[in-house]
Amino acid sequence: MNMIEAKDGIHSIEKIAPNTYRIDEEGIVNCYFLIGKKSALLIDCGIGYGNIYETVRELTDLPIILAITHRHCDHDGGRNYFRNYYVHRNDKPFVYKLLSSKLACKALLKGNHVKAKLSKMPFHSKPIYFDDNFSFDLGNRVVNTINTPGHTKGSVVFLDASTNLMFTGDDVNPFLWMQLPGSTSLSTWLIGAKIIFSLTDNYTAYCGHVNGYETKEEIAGIINLVFSMLQNKPKFKGNSVIYPPDEKAKNHIFVSRNHLK
Ligand SMILES: [Zn+2]
Ligand SMILES: [Zn+2]
Repeated sequence: MNMIEAKDGIHSIEKIAPNTYRIDEEGIVNCYFLIGKKSALLIDCGIGYGNIYETVRELTDLPIILAITHRHCDHDGGRNYFRNYYVHRNDKPFVYKLLSSKLACKALLKGNHVKAKLSKMPFHSKPIYFDDNFSFDLGNRVVNTINTPGHTKGSVVFLDASTNLMFTGDDVNPFLWMQLPGSTSLSTWLIGAKIIFSLTDNYTAYCGHVNGYETKEEIAGIINLVFSMLQNKPKFKGNSVIYPPDEKAKNHIFVSRNHLK
């Protein structure tokens, strides 16, 4: 992996395809940056630590469109560097506003043991809600979206036919979070996860955390784990559980009682 440190000292940049970059924010979360002929698309914008805007400006002078995979603070926390941002309409409810608040960002940084202040940003970014199958035309490059409700109801996968890459946000992560309010049941998640799995015939997946790159087998692994969890109903001590209990297992699912169905 060839990572180049950005000028803000927080982000690092990896070229994953022509005009396509993974941007890591402090090892916590990934953003993706796709440059077309007329404009560039930033998919997710981190927690708001460091300067994601200046970081992507190092890569292009073109107008930048911000769109997010889902409305959680680690994916839209840097939105106020932009005047507006695109988000799927199903992530409009108030619960997602809470989950993308500054308070949620601070709690997340604390949870990751990062002693840092969130950056001051110039705008109060306005959401632009989009519906199913919305696409972004960057000039010679069209990026399509599909809504796969699960991790959040408005979770979206971005499909870039020019590179055969897809960006899956947090919806099929190796450590899948389904414990938060605003997540769907596991059965609903399965519908979208199977769509993502079938797309791996044509697209290579990059997700929102760790090193980004995810194989078809890894996505199958998390789907199989959900099947096994629905059959073997794990025991809850509190309201949520991490399954399987073996820390060394490849995949884990963090689920709350009311989503285990
Ligand atoms: Zn998330
Ligand atoms: Zn995330």
